[in-house]
Amino acid sequence: MTVRNGSCGCGDLKYSVEGEPVNSVFCYCKECQIHTGSDKWFGVWYPKEKFKITSGNPSIYARKGMSGKDMNHLFCANCGVMVAAEVTAGNFYSVGVSTLDEFDGLAPAMAIYTASAPSWAVYPEGVPKFDTLPPGMGG
Ligand SMILES: [Zn+2]
Ligand SMILES: [Zn+2]
Repeated sequence: MTVRNGSCGCGDLKYSVEGEPVNSVFCYCKECQIHTGSDKWFGVWYPKEKFKITSGNPSIYARKGMSGKDMNHLFCANCGVMVAAEVTAGNFYSVGVSTLDEFDGLAPAMAIYTASAPSWAVYPEGVPKFDTLPPGMGG
């Protein structure tokens, strides 16, 4: 069983994820742009029980997602880095790939919320793009 470890920028907050992600997504929604300072967030999705905080205590910022259900951002109060967001609408965590210690073999499988992307957004090659979410997902 693959276990990957990750941490925030200062190392106060550490986590692990088990197994392979169920999805890997470039999200171009406005919130992700704000939180990353970039055109997108690269999140790998893990079922809730596969994500564990192993050190430190995350601060939580809750907001309403597009679905109207809570998105709980887990971030480090010391350095401000968000390591993951709990998507309660789907019962999974979207883990920030940039916070994983190593991310060999992880690549985006789709681009979502591209309707909100800036005109200068950069898209991965060869993966489907969706204005919002793929049909049948979320909602
Ligand atoms: Zn930190
Ligand atoms: Zn987003």
